[in-house]
Amino acid sequence: MDVFSIMAQLLVGWLIADFLSGIVHWVEDRLLWVDMPLISKAIVEPNRLHHVDPQAFLASPLLSRNSTTWASAIAIALAWLMIAGFSWIWLGAIAGGLAVTEVHAYSHRQTARSGWYRALQEIGIVQSAPHHWGHHAGRMDTRYCILTGWLNPLLDRLRLWARLESGIEVIGLKPNRGTA
Ligand SMILES: [Zn+2]
Ligand SMILES: [Zn+2]
Repeated sequence: MDVFSIMAQLLVGWLIADFLSGIVHWVEDRLLWVDMPLISKAIVEPNRLHHVDPQAFLASPLLSRNSTTWASAIAIALAWLMIAGFSWIWLGAIAGGLAVTEVHAYSHRQTARSGWYRALQEIGIVQSAPHHWGHHAGRMDTRYCILTGWLNPLLDRLRLWARLESGIEVIGLKPNRGTA
């Protein structure tokens, strides 16, 4: 297999992780509520705090802000490995899954710490602060993906998130559009 093919497959995996980050973020924002049993403290409350006070996210220690994501990414990656075996797509996806919360945290910094990271943000392979700010500064109903800057324009144009919201209303669930 040539190096371009490997790179392309790693990239596909990275984009799968980006897409999953959007789905998980949308579920956290719209389907979960504070005081839900078991998950409120670990998932719902940190997500609400991140919306109300975006700087609080940066202040939390590395391990505490990443632990839930890392545990979920490893669990999904092991299940995927057992079902489908190793692939470069798998490797790209687990890399994205492990990196996504740090990439998200870095997109809360006004300026990137290093030039090479800023270059990656400008390409869009990791999400930049101005791009992510479109989620926070808007009505928080677009730009749910938090790993790259590439899928959001497409998914927002397709109105995926609005359609999902309509879909859950059809089945009788109330989307959470506030901070509860
Ligand atoms: Zn959000
Ligand atoms: Zn954010």
